[in-house]
Amino acid sequence: MIIEQIWTGNNWRNFNYIIACPDSGEAMAVDPLDYEKCLDLAKLRGWEITQVLNTHEHGDHTGGNHEVISATGAKLLAHENAKGKIDGIDIALKAGDVIKVGITVELEALDTPGHTMSHVCLLSQSDTPALFCGDTLFNAGAGNCHNGGHPNELYMTFAAQLSKLPDNTLIYPGHDYIVNNLQFTLDREPTNKNAATLLNKLEDQDPDDALVTTIGLEKDINTFFRLNNPEVIEKLRDKFPDMPPNPDEKAVFVALRELRNKW
Ligand SMILES: [Zn+2]
Ligand SMILES: [Zn+2]
Repeated sequence: MIIEQIWTGNNWRNFNYIIACPDSGEAMAVDPLDYEKCLDLAKLRGWEITQVLNTHEHGDHTGGNHEVISATGAKLLAHENAKGKIDGIDIALKAGDVIKVGITVELEALDTPGHTMSHVCLLSQSDTPALFCGDTLFNAGAGNCHNGGHPNELYMTFAAQLSKLPDNTLIYPGHDYIVNNLQFTLDREPTNKNAATLLNKLEDQDPDDALVTTIGLEKDINTFFRLNNPEVIEKLRDKFPDMPPNPDEKAVFVALRELRNKW
């Protein structure tokens, strides 16, 4: 499996992806908003884009569909609940569906509601797993819930699915927000040395050559995976006086998500 992370350089800081089978040259474009960069890269590498996948229905993920599909004849894949929200879906995905790219690449569709209620993540079936997580999980952060999502569902997606992935799972999110997210983690947990060290290293990161994190690293630096951390809880109780000393994980997650909305 070959993974190309494409930095769009736009105001929303989107990442697009091409996932290719090295044996057949067939490829899938994930959320190819910057269709020119995606088409140019595929052409340069001699790949044929046969599938386009949208992680969810927002325009900064679907906005390049038409151009890529017109140029390649690719099939469009998205969550089954995205019908009526995304035009021209050929293959509607549900949890557990396996998507093949060429001969060697297999990707499992995960049903991951929260950012929207029709969001899929892709998990590669490879020696080192890779997760294409759209706007559900970001490097050091979590997606927002104010354009069709719900924080309770986002919490469930983190608790029941993302946190159970192997620690070596590579994380490929839909946006580059890592610097801002690390600053938020440090605002909530000022003694987090791993986050501070990484922030120091990444402040001038070139998003064209971005750090690829893992679930293991996320558990150290992403406040949305640190729901039992005493410092996180103590600081939340300053902001939310009704929060008990031993809150459940969901209450901590939802409170963090609320604070992040105004960050
Ligand atoms: Zn979105
Ligand atoms: Zn987005």
